[in-house]
Amino acid sequence: MADCIFCKIAKGEIPSATVFENDDVRVIMDIGPAAKGHAIMLAKKHVPNIYELDPEDAAKIFSVAPKIARAVQKTTGADGINVLQNNGEASGQTVFHLHVHFIPRFKGDSVQVGWKPGEYADGEAAKLAEEIKKNI
Ligand code: AMP
Ligand code: ZN
Repeated sequence: MADCIFCKIAKGEIPSATVFENDDVRVIMDIGPAAKGHAIMLAKKHVPNIYELDPEDAAKIFSVAPKIARAVQKTTGADGINVLQNNGEASGQTVFHLHVHFIPRFKGDSVQVGWKPGEYADGEAAKLAEEIKKNI
């Protein structure tokens, strides 16, 4: 993808503060961190989102996540880490090249990643589960 900034960063065509690199991913510091130490793992291959990620690439990419989470936690002394990945504008995705966030969290911090728990009517969750199952 000629115009994709994350392709250029992932390939090393644009310099970045890289914390890890292998054949499949480059992990860099996020330029607009939710918290100090916020890192993002970029796929080296251009894939816009998780829907278009094939299982083999997914296995390679996501297998890197535990060691990045451990390193970010150890370095920042975070009380917790959010590992998250946005797909589609409605989810908050702004760069349409697959990436995974590692956001250090501290007790009482003001980072906003969360939701107000909703609720289901009787049988609604089970019905939805059946519908989702059919689409797998
Ligand atoms: P998302 O909203 O999930 O698509 O996340 C995109 C993330 O990429 C944001 O947290 C941005 O701060 C970050 N970002 C955008 N451009 C750059 C860049 N050139 N270098 C590092 N991080 C970037
Ligand atoms: Zn790309």
